[in-house]
Parts: sequence; structure tokens; C-alpha cells
Amino acid sequence: MTAKDSCPIAAAHKRLMDCHAMWHAMADDYMTPESFRMHLNSLIQGMRNVTFMLQKQKASLPGFEKWYTEFQTAAKSDSLMRWSVNSRNKIVKESDLELLSEAKVRWVGDWIATGERNLTFPPRMPSKSILAAIFSDPGNPQMGVITISRRWVDKALPDREILGATREVFVNLSTLIATAHRAASSEECGLGDREPTCVTSALATAPLPCMDINPGWLQEHLDLDAGRGIEEVAYNFELSPVIAKKSRKRYGSAINVDGNPIEVAARIMEQACKALVRDKEHVPLIWFFRDDIVVDSIMPVFFDQNGKYLTMHRVADRVESLRANGVIFLSESWYATDEKLDKDGRLIPARDRGRDRREALHVLAATEGGEYASLLTPFSRTIFGKIVLDEQIIDMGADLETPGPFNILRPILDRWGKG
Ligand SMILES: [Zn+2]
Ligand SMILES: [Zn+2]
Repeated sequence: MTAKDSCPIAAAHKRLMDCHAMWHAMADDYMTPESFRMHLNSLIQGMRNVTFMLQKQKASLPGFEKWYTEFQTAAKSDSLMRWSVNSRNKIVKESDLELLSEAKVRWVGDWIATGERNLTFPPRMPSKSILAAIFSDPGNPQMGVITISRRWVDKALPDREILGATREVFVNLSTLIATAHRAASSEECGLGDREPTCVTSALATAPLPCMDINPGWLQEHLDLDAGRGIEEVAYNFELSPVIAKKSRKRYGSAINVDGNPIEVAARIMEQACKALVRDKEHVPLIWFFRDDIVVDSIMPVFFDQNGKYLTMHRVADRVESLRANGVIFLSESWYATDEKLDKDGRLIPARDRGRDRREALHVLAATEGGEYASLLTPFSRTIFGKIVLDEQIIDMGADLETPGPFNILRPILDRWGKG
């Protein structure tokens, strides 16, 4: 055995890497029912083969009986792992899984008024027909932005979307293979990388960022408020690694972004102030944390208010996909020193306040555990364009019942609440 391919459990480990590649192939063919079914069948069998290959090598793996029995016991009491084993037996011996095609429909009126429903539709039914069916029910609201997400579920596991379910089984198997490596006293593995390039020998014990279970291309967004009828809503964000590199350049060299998001927020503000003074403007940035480690970062682009609602719901999708439990959101925003009400007694947002609104840098941090921080640094520009920073305003509480600085994070907080 050469150092290059030195893996103590090469057969099982290669099958695990096969599963990673098969998962992407399945995700890529999500909208093609027959190809999707074919890739799912391969993946389910491939995942079972990982444990078969491992069992074949048990004589050469120290402590196998102990740690493998622990895995088996845990798997037997886990509905998802049981589903995976049962599905493999069904596919090999009887028939395909009974796949159901659903559309998850989400309404977004504003930060507070939102709704969500799962409806069953034939795969590839055009969105216009789905909309017509939705609005034939007078109970469904015709308001705001509507998002239609396609999803496949197995009849035997009706609450779980297939990409998410299989990804979780994959992570459990990856954890098992990591245990086997440790048992063989071989943390290092010499298996080479493959195609697609994210398929490496690294053993993840948490969801990989590349296995996106809420990919944007499975969603369509339609603006029901738009004057000319239904319009596609634009949203966009630049994904890592480009942005990760940029933010590391700006934030990584001077500060360490990893850490508790609430504590990191102050460091980010300090750095952002320096960048603002230097560059006269600042792009919005969002960092995703899992257990105090930054797992992803994006640069969101907001076109208008509906685009902003939508983007933040997409950010919540990303939080769910990454299983992130902390976020930091940095942006330039409008700020008003007092409160003004409109003729109906509603608070006028600072963005609509005209000449008495002020510019500010805003850093918001929140964790799934319920910690919040809002740091606001108002600033003004001299006639020569120089930035003059004001004193920082810090708010550590979140009154989520009233409109306020934390509203923009509400789609994320709601998603955590459901988890
Ligand atoms: Zn290996
Ligand atoms: Zn991948």
C-alpha cells in the first residue's frame, strides 16, 4: 500500500464518496422524474453498501464489535436510518419507492404576515397551473410574494423531503467511517479527490455546504402586488467561496470572525467602520455560524422591499440547509432619532422618512439559543464626502412583537422555532 492510497477501509470509504457524488447527480436531476428515481435508487443502495463493505473488514478493525454495535443500536432507534434500510430492501427485492411530488407554497406579506402550506401536484406542473389551483381555494391569500418550491417525498417518510433525508443518512455514515478511521488509528486518509471537486475524502460529521437542500433553482418567486399582474421577483446573493475570500481579506486578516456571534458582532462593527471610512460605502454581508464556527458567508443584493423579504427567506433556507445556529448580518441602513407615525398610527420606517433620516452601519447578531445584539453606528458625510462616525448605539434585547431592528432576521428566527 502506498502512502497515496493509504486508507484502512478503502472499499467502504470509496463507497461513501460514491454516495456523495450520487447525491449531487440526484439533486441535479430533481426536475426529471425518471432520472431522479434512478439516482435515488442508486444512492439508497450505495449507502447500504458502505456498511456492508465495513462489515467485511471487521476482523482487521480494532474494537469493531463495540463501536459498530453502538452505531447499529442508534440506527435502529432512528426513524430515518430505518427508512434508509427498509427502502434499500424494497428497491432491491420489490419495487421503487412511492414518490410523491409536492409543492411547498410560501406567502410573504411583510416581516410578520407570512404563511406556508404543502400541496401535492404532479411533477413538472407549470407554476401558472399551480397558482390557478391555489387560488381556486378562496382560503388562500392573494398577497405579497409567493414562493413555490418543488419537493419529492417518499410515501413511507411523508414529512421529509428526499434531499434532506438522504443527506442526513449520508452524514451518519460519514460519521461512522470517521469512527472506523479512528479505530484503525488513522485520522489521515490518503484517498484522492474526485469529480465533482467537492467529493473529497474528508469525513463530515455535519451537513456539507455543497449539499444544498434548499437550492434556489427549485424555487419560483412571484410578486402578487406588482401592478402588471404576476412578476418574477429578483433576488440574488453571491455565494462563497468568492465572498468568503473577500470577507477574509477584509475581516480575516484583522480579526478572527469565528467565535460566539454576539461577541464577534463588536469586532465586525469595528472593522466595518474602518472599511466605511476608507471606501465611503459598505456592501451587505451575512455570516452563518454553526457552533461558533463560520460555515458560510454571502453578499445579499436587495432590489426593493419585496426583494428584501424574499432574500431574507432565502437566507433562512440557507440557515436550515447549513444547520447554522448563529448569524451576523452587516449592512448600511437608515436610522431615525425619533419615532413618527403615519395617519393610520403606524410607525413610519426610517427608510421612508425623507430628509430627516440618517445613514448608519448596522450589525445584527442572533443565535438559535435566543441571544441577540444590534449595533448601530450612525454616520454623516461632510461636503467633501468624508465619513464622520457617531457614537454607537447598542441594543441587546429583542422585542419581536413590535417592528424594530430585529424584524429583518424574523424569517431566520421563525425557521429556528420550527426546528
Ligand atoms: Zn479513508
Ligand atoms: Zn458535494
